[in-house]
Amino acid sequence: MNSKILLSPPHMGGNELNFINSAFESNWIVPMGPNIDAFETDLEKYIQEDKNVLSVSSGTAAIHLALILSDVRSNDEVICQSMTFSASANPIIYLGAKPVFIDSETDTWNMCPNALENCIKDRIKNGVKPKAIIVVNLYGMPAKMDSIVTISKRYNIILIEDSAESLGSSLNNKKCGTFGDFGIFSFNGNKIITTSGGGALVCSTSHQKEKALFLATQAKDTAPHYQHSEIGYNYRMSNVIAGIGRGQMQVLDKHVNLRRENNNFYQSLFKNIKGVFVQKEFSENYYSNHWLTCILIDDKKSSISNEELRLILIENNIESRPLWKPLHLQPVFRKYKYFGDNISEQLFNKGLCLPSGSSLNSQDKNRISKIIIDAFK
Ligand SMILES: *Cc1c(COP(=O)(O)O)cnc(C)c1O
Repeated sequence: MNSKILLSPPHMGGNELNFINSAFESNWIVPMGPNIDAFETDLEKYIQEDKNVLSVSSGTAAIHLALILSDVRSNDEVICQSMTFSASANPIIYLGAKPVFIDSETDTWNMCPNALENCIKDRIKNGVKPKAIIVVNLYGMPAKMDSIVTISKRYNIILIEDSAESLGSSLNNKKCGTFGDFGIFSFNGNKIITTSGGGALVCSTSHQKEKALFLATQAKDTAPHYQHSEIGYNYRMSNVIAGIGRGQMQVLDKHVNLRRENNNFYQSLFKNIKGVFVQKEFSENYYSNHWLTCILIDDKKSSISNEELRLILIENNIESRPLWKPLHLQPVFRKYKYFGDNISEQLFNKGLCLPSGSSLNSQDKNRISKIIIDAFK
């Protein structure tokens, strides 16, 4: 049997171990130190805006901190894109607040600005103005941030940009993660770059970063004894794994290009296959890192469905995965409000994510081509 082709495996650049060794040599085996400082500076330089980046233990922790800094409390409402990974919404529940889910639009598959504005108007009419909006750039594709930023400003609601999947993407040459009042990145093992597990919170002011660092370090007041006036969290990143992050930052743009080449590969592979749409940027202002390349299969026009293709691929030791199941359809979130026209549900029913790692080589691509061409015969 051929070796398994994975959806998005870790891909080391080469210098990660040197940075880890430097942590060992200097004995910074703690959740602070030179690798942390340098990794945060690398990220700040990369996103090219006047932002303050805090590295944390996960993308989920970063969302949790962003919500606390947005003053989200028990029984508040927080608007969240429905089509996303559950981690976008879980921290809303950690705080005892209530998510309100928004459908996708068909150009980017992300939050529909019209449904967002309808939702805000409805909630304000009902006397509950939402505290924050969580928008996601799924699979690396920037959401319609121009409209979403405008709406968040019009109603004066804090915007949190979940860029867990979109480090390296941009819209009108502005990097994803910098559009909101807060942005977050994830360095989980399957993401565009990884620290094995980790995340970052992008803050608009140094004051916000200080407050986030305070909360992420157990909320210790300034006192020689341990004194606490607030509930804290243990959310800091280790200086050891920040070394992996520094090595990964050196190859980020190279890996973005490789993922974009994967998307080109799938565009040409499916060019002559009827009923299959390969996700792409709908306008030239959009630049996706193509973290994952996804397809939609219209099984009225195609010989097989998305689920049939997934089973054929797995029989041949090739991993693929359905799109994120919309959160308003998840058993754990079903009781919350939802605004939209079931676009995300239609995408979920037709979609499939294909192997998209930056380490996908030409042999892998040949194997995938043969099996896919065969599957649609
Ligand atoms: C991965 C991911 C997260 C969570 O990040 P972790 O680092 O795994 O906690 C949040 N949102 C989205 C959209 C993600 O893909």
